[in-house]
Amino acid sequence: MKAELLTVGTELLLGDILNTNAQYLAQELAALGITLHRQTVVGDHPQRLEDAMKMALQDADVVICTGGLGPTEDDLTKETAARLFGTKLEEDKEALRRIQEYFRKRQRSMTENNKKQALIPADCGKVLYNDHGTAPGIVLEKNGKMMILLPGPPEEMVPMFQEQVRPILAEKQDGVIYSEILRTIGVGESRMESMVQDLIDSQTNPTIAPYAKDGEAILRVTARAETKEAAKNLIAPIMAELEHRFGESAYAHGETDLQTVVSEMLISQKKTIAVAESCTGGMISSWLVEYPGISEVFLEGCVTYSCEAKMRRLGVKKETLAQYGAVSAQCAAEMAEGIAKTSGAEIGLATTGNAGPSPSEGKEVGLVYVGLYHRGKTMTQALHLAGDRNKIRRDAA
Ligand code: AMP
Ligand code: MG
Repeated sequence: MKAELLTVGTELLLGDILNTNAQYLAQELAALGITLHRQTVVGDHPQRLEDAMKMALQDADVVICTGGLGPTEDDLTKETAARLFGTKLEEDKEALRRIQEYFRKRQRSMTENNKKQALIPADCGKVLYNDHGTAPGIVLEKNGKMMILLPGPPEEMVPMFQEQVRPILAEKQDGVIYSEILRTIGVGESRMESMVQDLIDSQTNPTIAPYAKDGEAILRVTARAETKEAAKNLIAPIMAELEHRFGESAYAHGETDLQTVVSEMLISQKKTIAVAESCTGGMISSWLVEYPGISEVFLEGCVTYSCEAKMRRLGVKKETLAQYGAVSAQCAAEMAEGIAKTSGAEIGLATTGNAGPSPSEGKEVGLVYVGLYHRGKTMTQALHLAGDRNKIRRDAA
């Protein structure tokens, strides 16, 4: 299978930004055993974009484009591709719903041109919904040619490629392409990347791809081989090295999530838990309750939002609140102890913090204290989180 890469954007031609999408996709295609025979950069110019697309479609089986899916006038990739594939654009209900949801969650108002991003070619092969931004990706197929349109921002393009495009391309290849996933929590995507950069640079098979999803930093290790066994053997030493580097932050392999892993640990160790939440507003309790069978160990969850509730329900001391404030390690500790004591649970877990949007009690936005009580011992940890209100709450949870 021959591929061609088309990165779109005048800012790339002017050198305002570095074409990291090209580097990333070139490496990913190589790992998949797909021959990349040309890369083209083209500005936001309708005729030159059309010419570049035509030429790419003539020479390659698969053309991957990034950029130009934005809401503004100069974003033309979709329109041009639809024209070349002889189809017109139509509104996609699910894409529109997701865009509206995106703006609603961020309490930002949606403009008319954002709606443009919900337009999808009428006989499109597949819509790639975007969990990290507003522009959906698109797969077009006709006469044995495939064109894949991806959003420009790397933080949207990378997860979309990993989760939705890679499987489509791997399917078309001979041999076995097998990958394993290592999930980490509390590391952050950029720190993760710097911790594995040397391995990424020195490996070709297997390859290592870091990406972020739902507040986690994830590593995908992919090997290409004759058989699945052989691919597994290539991955094993790399996986061992990654586990060693990430230590406790590496919490699981494969498709799972933190609440599942935590719930299973609590149940297998028969440890009961109760949660007192302020800024997370019940999120931790809700996540625990997602796990069927959690009733064996989860006793109760309290959303103690006001100072009054923290005192009355959990026995947080008035003096503690007066001296240190509600967003403090001292308060988190007393909350954790209070919920353990009143519920009779072995573990008491508490959160208190400022999720924003403005500082309160002179505490910065994103400062969250976690309190943990377990068998007579209390620990606290300060988290310094970034992002909007809901992202801070989620990351704290
Ligand atoms: P666009 O989808 O063309 O509106 O691109 C939106 C943003 O994505 C740009 O302003 C860049 O910050 C980023 N971006 C687009 N293309 C690339 C690329 N090839 N490499 C890295 N970043 C890119
Ligand atoms: Mg652009």
